[in-house]
Amino acid sequence: GREDTDPFDYLFKIVVIGDSTVGKTNLLSRYAWNEFNLDSRSTIGVELATKWLRELRSHVSDDVIVMLVGNKTDLRHLREVSSEEAAEYAGTYDNNMTFIETSALDCSNVEQAFRQCIHEIYTKVT
Ligand code: GDP
Repeated sequence: GREDTDPFDYLFKIVVIGDSTVGKTNLLSRYAWNEFNLDSRSTIGVELATKWLRELRSHVSDDVIVMLVGNKTDLRHLREVSSEEAAEYAGTYDNNMTFIETSALDCSNVEQAFRQCIHEIYTKVT
């Protein structure tokens, strides 16, 4: 079976939630394939995930790792939420969630965001 050939020790599921066009698809494609699409259309999968995810909290166990990602840091002149404001919000959530700012366009912090998330999950389950 797959267990025999699978070279992995762990399989973690990361779910990306957020309003349409915030950059969820591009964060994933940047991380997974180092690809960025300037004109990406929302897909049915993404839309379904958005609906699904509204109820995330009530469907996952309490020990799920939640992380706040502020994307599009390259668009400095259009910033609407300050880093301080976002960090403060993250600090008020349950028992603290990690906050990180990224840009799928210029690559900044994308790798770090996913690594941090994976690290937190790993720490929790081992
Ligand atoms: P989703 O609906 O959340 O999946 O958002 P998409 O990944 O489809 O991105 C929506 C739009 O924002 C697309 O035109 C992307 O090119 C753009 N976009 C995504 N991430 C960034 C980013 O980090 N910086 C900039 N400037 N644009 C981005």
